[in-house]
Amino acid sequence: MTHRVISPVNESVIATLEDVSEEVTDEAIARAAAAQAAWAAVAPGDRARLLARAAAAVDGAREELAALEVRNAGHTIANARFEAQNVRDVLAYYAGAPERHGGRQIPVPGGVDITFREPIGVVGIIVPWNFPMPIASWGFAPALAAGNCVVLKPAELTPLTAMRIAELCHEAGIPEDVFQVLPGRGSVVGWRFVTHERVGKVCFTGSTEVGKRIMAGCAEQVKRVTLELGGKSANIVFADADLEQAAASTPGSVFDNAGQDCCARSRLLVQRSVYDRFLELLEPAVTGFRVKDPAAEDAEMGPLISAEQRDAVASYVPQGAPVAFSGSVPEGPGFWFPPTVLAPVDPRDRVAREEIFGPVLAVIPFRDEAEALTLANDTPYGLSGSVWTNDVGRALRVSRALETGTISVNSHSSVRYWTPFGGFKQSGLGRELGPDALDGFSEVKNVFIATGG
Ligand code: NAP
Ligand code: MG
Repeated sequence: MTHRVISPVNESVIATLEDVSEEVTDEAIARAAAAQAAWAAVAPGDRARLLARAAAAVDGAREELAALEVRNAGHTIANARFEAQNVRDVLAYYAGAPERHGGRQIPVPGGVDITFREPIGVVGIIVPWNFPMPIASWGFAPALAAGNCVVLKPAELTPLTAMRIAELCHEAGIPEDVFQVLPGRGSVVGWRFVTHERVGKVCFTGSTEVGKRIMAGCAEQVKRVTLELGGKSANIVFADADLEQAAASTPGSVFDNAGQDCCARSRLLVQRSVYDRFLELLEPAVTGFRVKDPAAEDAEMGPLISAEQRDAVASYVPQGAPVAFSGSVPEGPGFWFPPTVLAPVDPRDRVAREEIFGPVLAVIPFRDEAEALTLANDTPYGLSGSVWTNDVGRALRVSRALETGTISVNSHSSVRYWTPFGGFKQSGLGRELGPDALDGFSEVKNVFIATGG
């Protein structure tokens, strides 16, 4: 079976790919399993050099990768460049890991006790379409650094950059069987990672619905699993904040990547005393948000990934929805939807509760800090969030009280490769990135040596 890869920008067919079958997936997993011991035996410094060379290869292909993502995913060229650089940086960061991935020596009576961090074996990584390049690298770079072989399934909608990155890694000297990209269906290739006994861990990013099925499937073999799932993150603006700055940065916090971001701050909680003023400041920032051909240097938002996704998003803005203001979209083909601000929204409404994964912001007023926290935490999700205040005590109090994994104060940065990323509650399980990422791709082995005497 084949499938066509469509550009969301102009709806043209940009590639036709053969779907990887279950048999081919099994062969790939067998090759990975056969290659793993030799990969783990590569001296740490040599594994480091191979990862550093892969980083350099990605660096050299930055513009090519970025252009590919603009066409395949409709990302703005500025974002796509950042994403290609992110792959480079993640590879370079974890190139430093093999030589530092040590165990411990623990004081015990009667001998010496040491721990080792052993690779898991073959790791299956399942990647969604919203950030095809970065999310792939957050899995494969630390997994390879820890001595595992990787089989990676990109999303059917956006397989092209991952396929190219694998080629670059191979050109840099990482053996082909050590890192394989298998474009195909989630229900075939991705599910085989779950059921195949030689895959020791599944690293999944995507919808909470599929993530729950992956976790249940992994339970059959007590297979290791990391889940990065959905979000309904809150951006909380207190009256004492720098309102101009908070308003100017709000569109980017929810409309970046056309809202197709698990960390999107899709709920804006604004203190009642500054509610009207804040919306006044927000309006020009939203109406001026540049939604246009994503290849344009100054584009701030492109189209949605597919017609299906656009229709799903549109269902959250029916006739009569409380649209306070919205941005514009270009004419012609492409899966466009304008940045849309709904205000005020009842916190029980589905736009305030469900992950929309599109450029729709629900604004909810709150009275005081206690109510802000109640509203922010009233969700099954807990991935990200922002707090805007000039009161340092409040910033810390609120950050500690939020049931969410990644918080930014007076900014919206969230996924930074130096620091751990992951969700509370139904937003996920485990953490990626940061200095401890290799822990998620290795097993701790304890060895006791009796010294006798
Ligand atoms: P999805 O179905 O969860 O897909 C994510 C990845 O899992 C894709 O590679 C997909 O492959 C694969 N997959 C699907 N079913 C599978 C199965 N049974 N076994 C193994 N792998 C499987 O997400 P989606 O359908 O693309 O998007 C739906 C919604 O999920 C979005 O609207 C959004 O709300 C949410 N989402 C969240 C994130 C996030 O970063 N947290 C990312 C994407 C989507 P295929 O490409 O073949 O389907
Ligand atoms: Mg799906």
